[in-house]
Amino acid sequence: MQPRSGVWDHFDKVVENGIGRAKCKYCKNTYAANSSKNGTTSLKQHLDRCKAQRSSSMMPPKFSSHVWKYFEVVQNNEEGRKARCLRCGVIYNCDPKWYGTAHLKKHVEKCLERSLYQENRIRI
Ligand SMILES: [Zn+2]
Ligand SMILES: [Zn+2]
Repeated sequence: MQPRSGVWDHFDKVVENGIGRAKCKYCKNTYAANSSKNGTTSLKQHLDRCKAQRSSSMMPPKFSSHVWKYFEVVQNNEEGRKARCLRCGVIYNCDPKWYGTAHLKKHVEKCLERSLYQENRIRI
């Protein structure tokens, strides 16, 4: 007797047009599941891909080190440090003693969203 494959913990067995298929519990796609022929190899492969996709879409993008791709420092002296958004030109205080970069990160997210929105509008 073969050891039970754990793949079926992640797929539901469904029947489509009289043919047994495997339905991924996560992305709801169905796949051929011929257990006698090609076994569950393709299902396992999908599972790996599906898992990678899910974790990358669930994890918020990490801007911590990327913030400075979107901002340039326009002032950095005893009065404090200021950074300007390269996209929209807005200037923020970013003195590490008082402000850190959390609000810069937040702005980058919003700014990127907004520019995507505007690009879509132009296309329409
Ligand atoms: Zn899937
Ligand atoms: Zn901006």
